[in-house]
Amino acid sequence: MNLILLGPPGAGKGTQSRHIAQKYHLVSLSTGEMLRAAVAGGSAIGIKARAIMESGGLVPDEMVAEMVADASRRASQDENSQGFILDGFPRNLRQAELLEGIFHKQNMQIDMALELCLEDEILARRIENRIAENPGQRREDDTPETLLRRIEVYHSETSPLSDYYRGKGLLREVDAALPVAQVSDAIDEALADLTTEDYLQ
Ligand code: AMP
Repeated sequence: MNLILLGPPGAGKGTQSRHIAQKYHLVSLSTGEMLRAAVAGGSAIGIKARAIMESGGLVPDEMVAEMVADASRRASQDENSQGFILDGFPRNLRQAELLEGIFHKQNMQIDMALELCLEDEILARRIENRIAENPGQRREDDTPETLLRRIEVYHSETSPLSDYYRGKGLLREVDAALPVAQVSDAIDEALADLTTEDYLQ
């Protein structure tokens, strides 16, 4: 089972992708986490990505797609995994096309695109709380300016993916304003159509 998790910054994609990965034995691939690791490690990709991430923009499509292709190739060799949950990729239509190419080459398909839906006002408040509660360990891109830019980029670049996957009959929307456990329940309900006892060992 291969899933895509869509949703604006602050909708809880990280939390829900960990829940999904654990429950359904999927490998969670987060491009944001891969990029933060590249920045911390000072690799060539990290050096290029750092300023873009701090401004709230998108790192070049081909660069991110290559990271995803490598990670999915490695993860598909993991015998304990039943597939992937992609968190933060694709981020625009070009990346959606690149993903299809990657999956096609690796003989895989996308089974569902789950969208965590949340209004701008609520997500701005959530990220402000995240900054206020963890001042020492906030992400470098958790600043009010970067947040605004990330929300703008989400609307202009990423939100067209909802229609794209709806058109393919793959989209399922979940209300992300609910408490975390209820969002997880709603995701489980959406996935119930896809899952068989094999996934839930
Ligand atoms: P995230 O952790 O998913 O919120 O990503 C943090 C930042 O990493 C984003 O604001 C982008 O600058 C960059 N990033 C993450 N995923 C992608 C992607 N698929 N394409 C381009 N940039 C990305």
